[in-house]
Amino acid sequence: MSTCPGCALLCDDIEVVVENGRIKETKNACRRGAARIKGCTNRLAPSIAQKPSDIESAIKKAAGILKDARAPMLFGFSNSTCEAQVKGIQLAKKLGAIIDDTSSFCQGLLIEKILHEKFRTCTLEDVRNKADVLVYWGSDAQDSQPRHLSRFSYFPRGESRQRGYEEDRVAIAIDVRESNTAKICKGHFYRIQPKGDREFILALLDALSGKVPAYEPKKMLELAAILKKAEFGVIFVGIGLTYSIKEDFDILVSLADKLPNFHIMPMVGHYNMRGFNENLFNETGFVNRVRFEGKAVHDDKYSIVETLREKSIDALLVAGSDPLSSLPRSLIRHLASIPVICIDPCVTMTSKIAAVTIPCAVSGVESGGTAVRMDGKKIELSKIIESDYPTDEELLTRLMEAL
Ligand code: SF4
Repeated sequence: MSTCPGCALLCDDIEVVVENGRIKETKNACRRGAARIKGCTNRLAPSIAQKPSDIESAIKKAAGILKDARAPMLFGFSNSTCEAQVKGIQLAKKLGAIIDDTSSFCQGLLIEKILHEKFRTCTLEDVRNKADVLVYWGSDAQDSQPRHLSRFSYFPRGESRQRGYEEDRVAIAIDVRESNTAKICKGHFYRIQPKGDREFILALLDALSGKVPAYEPKKMLELAAILKKAEFGVIFVGIGLTYSIKEDFDILVSLADKLPNFHIMPMVGHYNMRGFNENLFNETGFVNRVRFEGKAVHDDKYSIVETLREKSIDALLVAGSDPLSSLPRSLIRHLASIPVICIDPCVTMTSKIAAVTIPCAVSGVESGGTAVRMDGKKIELSKIIESDYPTDEELLTRLMEAL
């Protein structure tokens, strides 16, 4: 069995048929996972200034850029193994650089609260075995983590939930649109206005306290009654909810306090974003937005968004991420004006503007390692096929040696 690096569910029941050193077929993986395991359609090649090069020269050039930079930044690592992430953190330390990742503009704050034990949480196995009330809030798992409902939450039988979704489980969706997940939740879809999550939580808190809520009282009282009856409930927090409440996590803490049988789980997309958060947290006490200035300093101005907005960095190394595909156009302008070093197995939008590109093996397919699942469980990634490409961990080590 192999593990799929297609999303932070890290399904470890994947069968892969290999023929002549190539992946011919996968079993059990969803379409997203199968595509990921089959690898890049467009493989990245080593280059310097957009001209073909070799890996050794590209590493030397990248080391020169980082050494000469006044304010270098390292970004990404959400699609890198834990081993590569640790090397990336060491490299940032050695350079006195800023380091940040995609969690900076999605689930970072929630994961930080979980690591500080501000919320009760649980494992995905607990969900499968015990959960009777599942709340997908601002999260369309069917599209983003396609096997979430079938492997762990709604459909499977569990130790205490032998009758599965037919009788033993209730799935609820709270979202601004009727997503594919909401369609499965059928009679338990609660539509909210964009950015209306705070108002919804306040009304729900009223309903849970026995007061008549000012907002949609009938629906709120009905929802509160279901939640109160739960023996083991889980709120799967998607970026729809975290974007909407922004920094105001106290309101989510208040809701969790009112629901003693509920657990909070972040719906992480990239397969090892949580691994990066945990590795940086272990080293510095923070999950992202850190600058090493002798000691680790955490500040919002060290987020990728702020550094680009303020034009405060003059070189950027990107590994296991494609910020160009997700950042607003106004920020990309500065990104295109500084030397970017891109370490990735595939051609990406970021690699297309990079001053130096260095190809690496596809982790979880051409190299093994470890990663952290969305619930915090460490999972082994296996090497499925041989490859001549160096791993991202190896490249970061060689880069550090070349400094
Ligand atoms: S749900 Fe995620 S980890 Fe599982 S097979 Fe699909 S992409 Fe891979």
